[in-house]
Amino acid sequence: METIFEAQDFIMNTGVEQKIFGHAPRAIYDVAVKNLHMLERMMSFYLDESELTLLNRYAGKQAVPLSDEMMFVLGQAQKFTQLSEGAFHMLLAPIIQLWRRAGAKNILPSHDEINDTLTFCNSENLLLDKVASTAFLKKEGSMVDLGAIGKGFAADVCCALYQELGASSAFVNLGGNVKALGNRPDRAPWVVGLQHPDKPKGTSYGAILCTDQSVVTSGAYERYQVIGGAKYHHIINGKTGHPSESDLKSVTVVSQSSMQADALSTAAFVMGLKKGVDFIYNTTCTGAVFFTVANEVYLTKGMTRHFRLMERFKCYEI
Ligand code: AMP
Ligand code: MG
Repeated sequence: METIFEAQDFIMNTGVEQKIFGHAPRAIYDVAVKNLHMLERMMSFYLDESELTLLNRYAGKQAVPLSDEMMFVLGQAQKFTQLSEGAFHMLLAPIIQLWRRAGAKNILPSHDEINDTLTFCNSENLLLDKVASTAFLKKEGSMVDLGAIGKGFAADVCCALYQELGASSAFVNLGGNVKALGNRPDRAPWVVGLQHPDKPKGTSYGAILCTDQSVVTSGAYERYQVIGGAKYHHIINGKTGHPSESDLKSVTVVSQSSMQADALSTAAFVMGLKKGVDFIYNTTCTGAVFFTVANEVYLTKGMTRHFRLMERFKCYEI
């Protein structure tokens, strides 16, 4: 008999919610958790011995041998960095750290500090040798951060496992990176609420009906720090070295690939509405929902039949 198993954990520095429906859902969950811990040991910026930490530690010194999965994620991150012309940018860690330290001290970084730090963020600093399965950061002080793509990859890994291990239906939410396998056990699509950028956590302004798709949101409201009384959020514009200032409060991307949705939502958020819409139309993703600073909602064409508006906003197809 098929049953459902549901659990919440804290892995990869984020809340992980799983719902698995099948003949032995608990056993499937156990395998997924094991894999998530493995991915954390691979991509964590904070764990002392993660593959990512080793790559960053040996910057300017030597190439580091990496697992096939890590090479794949770095290759994809490099591809999205190029595709988005640096709006998604995996080498911003030095500048992200600068802003974190500024937040801790409650003093804004100076113009010179920002410009000096940006010299470590050149995307050409990362060399991947796919044959030798190694990566090398050419410049000492350069660092990779997979915070804008890693959870998406992990959601893809989870869903692949659910399917391989015989789940008939499943759902994973890794800190807002959602991916669904099939429909809900009652055969209706999964419903993924979209967080209202200005309202308490859990308040949705709309929802995506989701079957075999991923839904990922990037937003200024998600994480921020206060310096001198003003808010500075966590998504950086690599061209300015400052938290991105666009006409958007959030972007949600829907795609079969959660890794793609993760990278594209970060990129489109930095680009702003006009450039972000053009960018999304040039990719294979299902579509995107843009929430602007003027509290208007814009949907790309493929999205209308997946989207339900829950509040009275002006909502346009674009
Ligand atoms: P996300 O929530 O997927 O948009 O990712 C945001 C996280 O990725 C941040 O907390 C940073 O660790 C990192 N990050 C910040 N700005 C960028 C950027 N422009 N491109 C890639 N990663 C970024
Ligand atoms: Mg992202």
